[in-house]
Amino acid sequence: MEFLPLFHNLRGARVLVVGGGEIALRKSRLLADAGAVLRVVAPQIGTELRELIDSSGGEQILRGYSEADLNGCMLIIAATDDETLNAQVSADARQRGVPVNVVDAPALCSVIFPAIVDRSPLVIAVSSGGDAPVLARLIRAKLESWIPPTYGHLAGLAARFRHQVKQLFPNVQQRRAFWEDVFQGPIADRQLAGQGAEAERLLQAKIDGDAPNAAGEVYLVGAGPGDPDLLTFKALRLMQQADVVLYDRLVAPAILELCRRDADRIYVGKQRADHALPQDQINQQLVALARQGKRVVRLKGGDPFIFGRGGEEIEELAAHGIPFQVVPGITAASGCAAYAGIPLTHRDYAQSVRFVTGHLKDGTTDLPWKDLVSPAQTLVFYMGLIGLPIICSELIKHGRSADTPAALIQQGTTSQQRVFTGTLADLPQLVAEHEVHAPTLVIVGEVVMLRDKLAWFEGAQASV
Ligand code: SAH
Repeated sequence: MEFLPLFHNLRGARVLVVGGGEIALRKSRLLADAGAVLRVVAPQIGTELRELIDSSGGEQILRGYSEADLNGCMLIIAATDDETLNAQVSADARQRGVPVNVVDAPALCSVIFPAIVDRSPLVIAVSSGGDAPVLARLIRAKLESWIPPTYGHLAGLAARFRHQVKQLFPNVQQRRAFWEDVFQGPIADRQLAGQGAEAERLLQAKIDGDAPNAAGEVYLVGAGPGDPDLLTFKALRLMQQADVVLYDRLVAPAILELCRRDADRIYVGKQRADHALPQDQINQQLVALARQGKRVVRLKGGDPFIFGRGGEEIEELAAHGIPFQVVPGITAASGCAAYAGIPLTHRDYAQSVRFVTGHLKDGTTDLPWKDLVSPAQTLVFYMGLIGLPIICSELIKHGRSADTPAALIQQGTTSQQRVFTGTLADLPQLVAEHEVHAPTLVIVGEVVMLRDKLAWFEGAQASV
């Protein structure tokens, strides 16, 4: 190991920064965050850096560096673009035995700045010993996406109960098991979901020995339109801690793959006419599994609250007092539009966009057609393939021009994405000609023309 990672308490400590430019500013920000008292020496100091020095109670010295500037400093940073000067600062600091960092010159450093993931009080530092800072930053980015922003709050929770838990379990092993359970279970989930008071209540109940028996929880998770890259961090995290996953037909296999390996997977998908499981049975199953103490992920295509019957499912959960969380997903309209190169609104062509179900009850037309034909409005039909001939003819009948541009997007955002564009008049014909099948989204409106203008090409963004 070339460098030993240590976390430095700089609160109230004087730190010398030599240099007044951008890099000096970046380092100074970090130092000020850690509570250091800055002494910045440079013939010229940028405005932002000056403000930072003032607001953090530091001192600025507007002249060239002199060795005496090191007096009283616990840490030295050389951040000038003058290599000779940087080397001089490094040598002086080493001479005095004070830790020194020279920006972009590992050989002149006795300490280096790691890439940092800050979930204070939890802080993760990643270093490549100065050999490959880009690599360290890439790892940092992975950690950033993996550890929720509120993760540090768990440490605060633990700090508040630490004493009680220590008294309850004098034995270290028991204590460790207790905290592992807390940090990986529903108590942590509450805290991460921003429900700190509830987390504290559950933790106190656990300490008092009257925790409700292994309360399960249901997560209604939007899995997005198909490309796994479009999952949210939160969706992924919950998927990876699920005991059981109930999923729809719309959920792509590549997304299912990202669920915890040993989670039970239950298919509850719906085909149009032949429902694999009727909705009320899905609702009951969610309640039953949660009652067994399981963490249940209900994985839904797109967003759970957009034509996803998410509302009905949580109604049932709420009625039975089962805790739940809803995680939004990218809905098909956003995903398909972006991957097909069709902006849903545009200052010149569409001032509003409307998501409409194309699932016509009993094959009849019970949609508010008059509202749907108002100009400068983009229409997005979900589940509109079967009813497409009726949808197009009704729109024309109620006044939308037969020439209105329209698009069909099949399996949007996946590598199988297909896009066909035409007009309200010829869209149904396109379906037959190209054997378009579900899931397909229909977009109607002038914005569809922009696809050509943007010179979009098939599969431009598809990455599955
Ligand atoms: N909750 C989902 C919608 C469920 S309704 C969401 O927010 O996206 C199912 C309809 O969504 C399908 O009939 C189809 O019209 C549309 N759909 C979902 N995923 C799609 C995809 N990848 N490509 C095209 N259409 C899609």
